[in-house]
Amino acid sequence: MMWMMRMIQFVRVRLEALQRYKVIIILSFIMFFYFVNRVSVNSDIKFSKLGIEDENHPVVAFTFDDGPHPGYGDKIVEILKKEGVRATFFVVGKMIKKYPELLKQEFLAGHEIGNHTYSDTRITSLSEKRAIEEIKKTQDLIKKITGKRSRLLRPPGGHYNGMIVDIAGRYGYKIVLWTLNPNDIVSPPAGKIYEDVVTKIKDEDIVIFHDGIDSTLEALPSILRKLKEKGFKFVTVSELLEMKRERLYANSGH
Ligand SMILES: [Zn+2]
Repeated sequence: MMWMMRMIQFVRVRLEALQRYKVIIILSFIMFFYFVNRVSVNSDIKFSKLGIEDENHPVVAFTFDDGPHPGYGDKIVEILKKEGVRATFFVVGKMIKKYPELLKQEFLAGHEIGNHTYSDTRITSLSEKRAIEEIKKTQDLIKKITGKRSRLLRPPGGHYNGMIVDIAGRYGYKIVLWTLNPNDIVSPPAGKIYEDVVTKIKDEDIVIFHDGIDSTLEALPSILRKLKEKGFKFVTVSELLEMKRERLYANSGH
């Protein structure tokens, strides 16, 4: 009978161990679901902070290069304000030196400010020293006028190389190009800009416009209204990059 007692004892110990594991397993499940819940609650907070309740809405970032141009930059700000839209201005150092108040106006209206070099020149053909100057001088002016440094660099013409990537990294910049270009720089009729944008636009696009073009001013209000009708939400470039990161995270199964 001794072996039977031992057997019962053995089974009981095993069962007790299993109980303990069961508690651990249940606890891990609770912690896992708590964590998953926390993550999704956090991302809800971020999306709603941007005025976007439903994160499945298509989002776009409108960008305006080459300013600030008096008579244009201020009008763009006015149009955006009327439609309750925020955008990103990639400004040129020599322009903000001339029109600091205009840059301030864009910044205070809640738009994001990006660096578009000092003289809007092709920086890939400059020496490293001169390329740094182009970026650094503009950065210092932006910081002086707005009190906030910029984190985005749009190299003129979208031209960049290893040297520019390296400088951008050293100075804490993200290089930002675009995914949709209605080519407003050549002053096409406003109707052509409108058609180009509203027919080609898709979720997560970064659209490049220019500050200083009459037909852009003319096309902008109807473009904004049409895209709003289609359910698009407008964010700054940094917000778009953050949302893309979050969507990627959510879709990777975390
Ligand atoms: Zn430019």
